[in-house]
Amino acid sequence: MKRRKFNTNILTTLGALGISNLSFGNEFLKKNSKKLGIALVGLGNYSTRRLAPALLETSICELRAVVTGTPSKIPKWKKKYGLKDYQVYNYKNFDSIVNNSEIDIVYVVLPNNMHKEFTIRAFKANKHVICEKPLALNSKEAEEMITASKKANKELYVGYRLHYEPHHLETVRLCRDEAFGKIKHFEGGFGFRVGNPNTWRLKKQYGGGALMDVGIYVIQGARYTIGEEPISVTAREYKSDKIKFKEVDELIIWQMEFPSGAIANCTTSFAASTNHLFVAAEKGFIRISPSYTYGKISGYTSKYAFDFEQVNQQALHMDGISNHILNGVPHINTGGDEGLKDMRIIDAIFKSTASGGRKVVI
Ligand code: NAD
Repeated sequence: MKRRKFNTNILTTLGALGISNLSFGNEFLKKNSKKLGIALVGLGNYSTRRLAPALLETSICELRAVVTGTPSKIPKWKKKYGLKDYQVYNYKNFDSIVNNSEIDIVYVVLPNNMHKEFTIRAFKANKHVICEKPLALNSKEAEEMITASKKANKELYVGYRLHYEPHHLETVRLCRDEAFGKIKHFEGGFGFRVGNPNTWRLKKQYGGGALMDVGIYVIQGARYTIGEEPISVTAREYKSDKIKFKEVDELIIWQMEFPSGAIANCTTSFAASTNHLFVAAEKGFIRISPSYTYGKISGYTSKYAFDFEQVNQQALHMDGISNHILNGVPHINTGGDEGLKDMRIIDAIFKSTASGGRKVVI
């Protein structure tokens, strides 16, 4: 099996996959020296370990400010990323970012219950927004965020990094081309064991729980492989540890029906490790496992394996969004409307679990 190399330039990657009618070549990007400025809001794990390092690898955007409620983090960030005092905000003075013309995009990387507030404040400050997944606590909040985006005439994007990952892009291509015939069935699962009993991910008011945190990747996977929107869901919730998971879901197993008749069987867990995407079509199957990680991802079909070099998903995602803003090149399904669609499905899944597994029409 030969591993295919993908360079971290978004245009090369997408062009190589032939999935985008890109009108600009690499030369264009090199010549177009303007870079967009990004402000990261919330300096937790994802910002520290993934997004800020990725912003050292991006071509057309860079880190130009941070927003934190923890002053002790500031010296390290200033030193590592060369930030000046005026590039450091806290949650109170964040709104003054309106006066900072170096910032084009605010990236909200906070616990889920804070997504709506900071997204709307960023729009009021006249910035584009990338908000982490899940877009909001529910579809009503997501709709408010989209309304705020339209009112400000600024773009809203979601942190859906896998739309820029080659194994997922190749799987979508195989599905669209019906390489193995029509899709009849999807199976997917994403889960891990939550260790820290004090994390906000186990608290309801923060929008915790497995479905909101990692189950959303499985919803996404089913939607972008089948290429349709589900028309109904049936979901059941199970708890093996009623103390740890007193407030939020530990394990949800749900089924989605699609207009073509395709069915998706999905699992999410905060107690066990699972990480796969499987598409069953008339004449063969496609499988990605591990599927949703930042690290090594592997793809197989019933006939052959496909393997691409690991990319920096976060760098490609942020460059893709910047290319949309700067040059009008379409981004890949990372808009606020995608986030809203998933929130509507999540609402329906919770409605179904609350009713003990009744079918909910979306
Ligand atoms: P984290 O707990 O590591 O960081 C959260 C940050 O928010 C911390 O800096 C914390 O200080 C700050 N914060 C501010 N007010 C807080 C409050 N009241 N309670 C708790 N923390 C508060 O979380 P994380 O893993 O960085 O996740 C942040 C967001 O990023 C979440 O929405 C999560 O779903 C998302 N995320 C996305 C990916 C991805 O692959 N796209 C991966 C990880 C996390």
